[in-house]
Amino acid sequence: MRGSIRLLRVAGISINIHISFLLLLALFASGGLKWLFIIISVFFFVTLHELCHSLAARQFGIRVSEITLLPIGGVASMTRMPEKPSQEFLISVAGPAFNIAVILVFFFPLKILLGPDVLMHPLSTATWPLTMAYVYWINLMLALFNLIPAFPMDGGRVMRALLAQKMGYLAATRIAVRSGHIFALAFAYFGIVKFNIILIAIAVFIYMAASSEEMQVDVREALKKFRVRDILSRDFLMVSGDTPLAKVLEMMFHSHQEDFPVADEGRVSGFLTRKDIIASVHRSGTAVPVKEVMRTSFPRVRESDGLAKVQGVMQESGLMALPVMRDEEVVGIVTFEDIGRAYAIISQR
Ligand SMILES: [Zn+2]
Repeated sequence: MRGSIRLLRVAGISINIHISFLLLLALFASGGLKWLFIIISVFFFVTLHELCHSLAARQFGIRVSEITLLPIGGVASMTRMPEKPSQEFLISVAGPAFNIAVILVFFFPLKILLGPDVLMHPLSTATWPLTMAYVYWINLMLALFNLIPAFPMDGGRVMRALLAQKMGYLAATRIAVRSGHIFALAFAYFGIVKFNIILIAIAVFIYMAASSEEMQVDVREALKKFRVRDILSRDFLMVSGDTPLAKVLEMMFHSHQEDFPVADEGRVSGFLTRKDIIASVHRSGTAVPVKEVMRTSFPRVRESDGLAKVQGVMQESGLMALPVMRDEEVVGIVTFEDIGRAYAIISQR
């Protein structure tokens, strides 16, 4: 996510902190060592919460590239959305389940260690034992906040997953989005009444995130109705492995094509993307032949594939263009722009 700094890598997932989280850190750390301890604990528990989502997602073959910590919580960036409601349910529940597990597992040990009076004391940082109790209860707050049945919270996803079984994905999404808007307005109301800037910021965040969820689902549903063959232009250029990049650049300038399948003796041997071309030209000039720059492993799509699926493959692979294959033969290229243009036309009807 833009504006974030990588802290560490856990199980192949990069843990990033957004600069606004650092502001929060500075704000609370000025309250003394105990507040610093609290904020670092929040960071720790939010990270583990997100890791639980990520590990659950991995069980369904969904890769999580990074976790970003924002003041309002964490975001695990998944390369695609879970396909089945049951998967979304389990992935969404995994985070809050972690916080609830912490509450259950540590209740009796802390009751003995801190004493029941300290543990059950309302949030206070007067002493270190009270601060420990504070940190413990943060897990309950994290679980409850995340289980609010509204987008973009985990509870909203849980609700959609449950509703989707009965009324379909689109209708379930609408309800979870409306619920997100209602909670956002409620937060905004209390934020204004209590002059609480943080509540207002949360309200704005929830409102926007709920709307963006709805748009993503709308796009996906619209694209599902169309297949690659519906938008495929048959007009495209191929290059051979020995073609120098200078020639490819020339082809890019003279056509609208920026990504090229590479074929030698009628067989596809690679794929060359705009990003690869530009990076290579900057690195080693234009005399380099295509075969030294091209990708030899890349996803392929078929004419019968739905556009929603293709969009998912693009997101997952990070490629903005994919070759379209019929058996071993390339029949065209589909690009991210092609899909965007198709959506713009469909949505105007
Ligand atoms: Zn969560």
